[in-house]
Amino acid sequence: MSVAIIGAGPAGLMAAEILSGEGHAVTVYERMPTPARRFLMAGVGGLNLTHSERVDSLITRYREAADTLRPALEAFGPQAMCDWADGLGAETFIGSSGRVFPKAMKASPLLRAWLMRLEGQGVRLALRHDWRGWDGDALIFDTPDGPRQITPDAAVLAMGGASWPKLGSDGSWTAHLPDIAPLRPSNCGIHIAWSARLLDRFAGAPLKTIALSFDDETVQGEAILTRDGLEGGAIYALSPLIRDRLDAGDPATLTLDLKPGLAVDALAARLAKARKGDSLSNVLRKAARFDPPAIAILREGDLPRDPGILAARIKAVPLNVTGVAGLERAISTAGGVCFEALDAHMMLRARPGTFIAGEMLDWEAPTGGYLLQASFATGVAAAHGVTAWLATVNHDQARP
Ligand SMILES: Cc1cc2nc3c(=O)[nH]c(=O)nc-3n(C[C@H](O)[C@H](O)[C@H](O)COP(=O)(O)OP(=O)(O)OC[C@H]3O[C@@H](n4cnc5c(N)ncnc54)[C@H](O)[C@@H]3O)c2cc1C
Repeated sequence: MSVAIIGAGPAGLMAAEILSGEGHAVTVYERMPTPARRFLMAGVGGLNLTHSERVDSLITRYREAADTLRPALEAFGPQAMCDWADGLGAETFIGSSGRVFPKAMKASPLLRAWLMRLEGQGVRLALRHDWRGWDGDALIFDTPDGPRQITPDAAVLAMGGASWPKLGSDGSWTAHLPDIAPLRPSNCGIHIAWSARLLDRFAGAPLKTIALSFDDETVQGEAILTRDGLEGGAIYALSPLIRDRLDAGDPATLTLDLKPGLAVDALAARLAKARKGDSLSNVLRKAARFDPPAIAILREGDLPRDPGILAARIKAVPLNVTGVAGLERAISTAGGVCFEALDAHMMLRARPGTFIAGEMLDWEAPTGGYLLQASFATGVAAAHGVTAWLATVNHDQARP
């Protein structure tokens, strides 16, 4: 039977692999001139394919969506992901943080092998096909040769979220589907109004070995000082909480610990040993071994000389967050097609025969391989849903 997959990202291509393997005639429609641009971009950072933690613990990373995604993640979890990559010649390894990467630390060899496998299974790739919704039962596309309509037996929509839209996924599909939770940035930087003095010297500088706290959550890691505020892994992990607070119209204050490895008392004792005539900057540099960007952040506020009070400030610098970065720079997207609009097989209740997969769905997760893991797993789940549905419906009814 004919299946149309819209979106040649990880979720769509995974659905194509399974459905073509089962003998269906699969065409993947993609608006860009080449497939999987976001997957390739993920490869620039090493291609963190998944995480090695146990499935039970991995599932909790998806927060509110954890229970809904559980069956998909149990059916296609981290081990399945590694086996799949290994099968395409991209042997994986577990990094020190438990994250899993291909040894090549990039996506292009894996994608090349994947596309060859798909071609071998008869998958057709229709590039420069921009999906524009339905006309009755027909899927409609804008193509360089004008509008085109097709009426497959089933369809999988896998058009991603709306982050990094220049790579292809811009959320334009929200105009054609019901029950969408608003698309919002996830794993994104935050905005802080730094002084011109700090920006002139330290925009782009790293803050190493810090801890950031927001509400009850504390994350250790690194961040980069940017013109807008802060970027980096530690910030990304807290960004959904900060975003939700700001969206609710409440102020958001982040607490920065510039010496997470040292208790306040021990730090105060070090600061107290400084020589009397030393400037405060020298005290911070020599006694606490701070580098200039960290000192500049401390200098954004009034600095107490008393070692005890200064140590407490260093361990809890309040940072007033004025906003979060937009979707164009966010690593991923929160929001999307609500699970209530779908049956247990990812099929749109309002449009039998149409299935949804990947980041189009309403889930979010931190970086660490969880994004690709769920994109692949939901691609697999949607493909199995298509197979089950096509097996039960009368051929004449099988129209998305
Ligand atoms: C810089 C960066 C680094 C990342 N690094 C990692 C990482 O290391 N590990 C990790 O787990 N995740 C990472 N991610 C996230 C990961 O890339 C995504 O979660 C994943 O690609 C989502 O897969 P998807 O198939 O749902 O959507 P996408 O990969 O976005 O693919 C959707 C496809 O649909 C196409 N499309 C969109 N609209 C239409 C339309 N109207 N008509 C036709 N086609 C359309 C798009 O062009 C695109 O090719 C990273 C993201 C970014 C931006």
